[in-house]
Amino acid sequence: MANKTKKLFLKTADVIIENKEYLTELDAAIGDGDHGINLARGFKKLKEKLKKQSFESRNEIFKLTAMTLISNVGGASGPLYGTAFLNISKVISDNQLDLDDLVEIAEEAIAGIQKRGKAEAGEKTMLDTIIPAAESLKQSRDNKLDLDTALSDCLESAAEGMKNTIEMQATKGRASYLGKRSIGHQDPGATSAYLMLKTFIKGYSK
Ligand code: ADP
Ligand code: MG
Repeated sequence: MANKTKKLFLKTADVIIENKEYLTELDAAIGDGDHGINLARGFKKLKEKLKKQSFESRNEIFKLTAMTLISNVGGASGPLYGTAFLNISKVISDNQLDLDDLVEIAEEAIAGIQKRGKAEAGEKTMLDTIIPAAESLKQSRDNKLDLDTALSDCLESAAEGMKNTIEMQATKGRASYLGKRSIGHQDPGATSAYLMLKTFIKGYSK
């Protein structure tokens, strides 16, 4: 289990590094143009650390990811993602995850981000990808859908949430300084959250 999780994080790191410029361009439009640079720096460091170690359990990997992002990603997004992964490390087991587990994981991630950043849905942040994804998982659980359908619905909701940030006005983070001028641009953090989620879901469903 830990081996598969390690591979998933190595893949996630590659995806973020590949999208460094795209994420930075999105941030240049409504922030300070460093989101891709920030995250790529943290994930490059994470790759180095992951490759050097072997792991017994998933939670160790989530914890290492959290600590690495908190200390190596400059900018708001490092501590926010870091706290999300740290919270997940406290609840994730080494069992095959079912929908109840995934809902708990999503809720913990959101709680971590909100504890740090105090944002709600609709403020044009990474949460506008993650909250709809979590809501979709909850619905699927309540409707007793199978895991594969739930994961593909979750990814669709995340994509929709990410795209919906285009029309939102930012009221948290650096983009909020732009006021109404933040409207018309996709949020960089919502985009990186989608890329991570997509990599996890595609990797997990394999
Ligand atoms: P900085 O804004 O410090 O330059 P980054 O560019 O790395 O940091 O990250 C910007 C992203 O962080 C935004 O696009 C947004 O999604 C996310 N973000 C900023 N503030 C918050 C917050 N309070 N809660 C959740 N996400 C936030
Ligand atoms: Mg920035």
